[in-house]
Amino acid sequence: MQTFSYARAATLADAITAAAQADTMVIAGGTELLNWMKDGIVLPQRIVDLNALSGLDQIVVDGNGLKLGALARMSDVAEHDAVKRDYPAISQALFKSASAQIRNMASMGGNLMQRTRCPYFRAEVELACNKRRPGSGCSALDGEDRHAAIFGASEHCIATHPSDVAVALAALDALIHVNGPGGSREIPFADFHRLPGDAPNRETQLSHGEIITSIEVPASALSKRSHYLKIRERASYEFALVSAAVGLDLQGGAIREARIALGGVAPKPWRLSAAEQALRGVSLSDTAALRNALDTDFSQAKPGRHNGFKVELARRTVIRALQTAGGVA
Ligand code: SF4
Repeated sequence: MQTFSYARAATLADAITAAAQADTMVIAGGTELLNWMKDGIVLPQRIVDLNALSGLDQIVVDGNGLKLGALARMSDVAEHDAVKRDYPAISQALFKSASAQIRNMASMGGNLMQRTRCPYFRAEVELACNKRRPGSGCSALDGEDRHAAIFGASEHCIATHPSDVAVALAALDALIHVNGPGGSREIPFADFHRLPGDAPNRETQLSHGEIITSIEVPASALSKRSHYLKIRERASYEFALVSAAVGLDLQGGAIREARIALGGVAPKPWRLSAAEQALRGVSLSDTAALRNALDTDFSQAKPGRHNGFKVELARRTVIRALQTAGGVA
């Protein structure tokens, strides 16, 4: 085991200064970082604990929207009455995440920094994996790809992003606030996670030393009528095979506006932008028309050898989520 130093930051400024040092990582709930360290995926020399920072665990719901401090615990957000009422997809996605014990510990900011569950990336004995060791290859390309991406992958990495709540945040056009050595800035959720391209080890837009401080979700009719549907191989505790988060604004029984993001199918939450346009005016009870509206996006799917089933499963998941959100299913 590699030794490391541990310090508890008293202020955000202290945390940023410490996080900007070389070989330093920040810890909040610790439910991911400690796994990486035990598996040898990361070996930091210094750990900066963010848990003493005041004001970063807030959950605020007002007329402008929802503001979640990065240290808010997943369980506290999931159980918050106003989140359940006005942002149901966020609450549902959190309740479907991990176990109750992990949700009690894990922070919202940390959830977004989760890394893939690709078994080659997480292997105790290091295997070829460009995400873990750049340039070493990708064991999944000729190996087990049942859980791999059907959208957005590259020849260097076909892994999926594991977060549930990130899918809901992507669908609801969230904004991520970060603070770092260069000051504060906002990152639209759709831009926060990177596609693998030829550098799968670079997973987010965060610069060295930057820390997520809060997540903001605008208030809208779409967020109030939102739903998260997760398909997994066991109900108790499992990552998504596919999932869908949707938000709807309805006029009568027809769709005025829709937002759709998929999970379990891409290296980041995958928005179906073409479908969102094509769904305008479509009746929620017309399943065939809903299917047709999804075609442009789904024609771009590129499944591997063992995950072709995800294409139809994801399509059905979206339709079911839309109809559930609209009270048709
Ligand atoms: Fe590594 Fe990505 Fe290949 Fe998995 S799919 S082995 S994470 S490079």
